[in-house]
Amino acid sequence: MNNHYDLIILGGGVAGMTAAIYAARANLSVLILDENACGGLVNWTQVVENMPSYKSIGGMELVERIQEQVESLGVDVEEAACIDAMDLTGEIKTVEADDEVYTAKAVIVATGRKPIPLDAAGECEQVHFCAICDGAAYIGKRVLVVGGGNSGFDEAVALLDQGIAELMLVEKMDRFFAAQSAQDQLAARSNATMRHSTEVVSVNYGDTLRSVTLRNLETGGEESREFDGIFVFMGQKPGTDDFKEHLAMDEHGYIVTDENMATNLPGVFAAGDVRPKKYRQITTAMADGTIAALEAERFIRGNSK
Ligand SMILES: Cc1cc2nc3c(=O)[nH]c(=O)nc-3n(C[C@H](O)[C@H](O)[C@H](O)COP(=O)(O)OP(=O)(O)OC[C@H]3O[C@@H](n4cnc5c(N)ncnc54)[C@H](O)[C@@H]3O)c2cc1C
Repeated sequence: MNNHYDLIILGGGVAGMTAAIYAARANLSVLILDENACGGLVNWTQVVENMPSYKSIGGMELVERIQEQVESLGVDVEEAACIDAMDLTGEIKTVEADDEVYTAKAVIVATGRKPIPLDAAGECEQVHFCAICDGAAYIGKRVLVVGGGNSGFDEAVALLDQGIAELMLVEKMDRFFAAQSAQDQLAARSNATMRHSTEVVSVNYGDTLRSVTLRNLETGGEESREFDGIFVFMGQKPGTDDFKEHLAMDEHGYIVTDENMATNLPGVFAAGDVRPKKYRQITTAMADGTIAALEAERFIRGNSK
């Protein structure tokens, strides 16, 4: 297997896949490494209604179409790839994943964002971050949703639509942050309860999830409630842990770039939600991927000025 490429793209969300399309069309040899399945957050989106050319399209269907285009251009894709080490400083960049060593003349980091975990829950099969991916396992069962922002409320409604028997949504702060329309939608469901000022103190397991201890932060009172599953929507953090020693980041851990997506290291670019930005959307991630790929091509061809 030839593991040398012109360009390695770390992260195969819409930013990474768009970059791959531009780079492959410029005749660069391209590898995408993704620690999960390509598509990233769009896989978690039930319906996308702001993607020009599709009035409405399922997130997974959109991903399939982009992936088909990527693969038709001869891009190599390694999914479920675990990055063990990297050296991005030299003229030739090295990335080690799953006992393979990959090299390239340029790298684009497009690792997006990850959900903030619920520390009290640890790692458990019954803790989830995506209603459409994992909700079906809880049809007819009881579910706790943690997080009172838009995602929490939208995903709670999506869970109930799938046939969850009983749902409780809790938020630690003293009010919910979701749009009032989203709150009204959930409040109208007879099998849903919503509590703010409520914290998850501990998650109690036997062989499987047994119960959750909740604390009312106004009264200090605690109670134990039985649930079959927990869905956590406490926001997102950048997926940049692997790059902390290598790339300049802002105080929140987002990779700093200039307007051409260039990082502090020559030949290393960043694109999509992993950058500091005001608007994180599919189209803005694609725009970043486009620019990063075109700049990587210029860099590789020795033409960056
Ligand atoms: C619930 C939800 C609904 C949304 N709905 C919409 C919508 O309707 N319309 C819209 O325009 N936007 C929507 N967005 C925003 C949009 O999905 C994102 O802005 C966009 O998908 C970001 O793309 P990305 O490629 O930058 O990152 P991501 O989609 O996060 O992709 C990053 C990829 O990198 C991989 N990765 C992470 N770390 C590593 C690593 N260390 N090594 C290798 N691979 C790694 C991940 O597995 C993932 O595949 C939504 C977001 C959410 C959370």
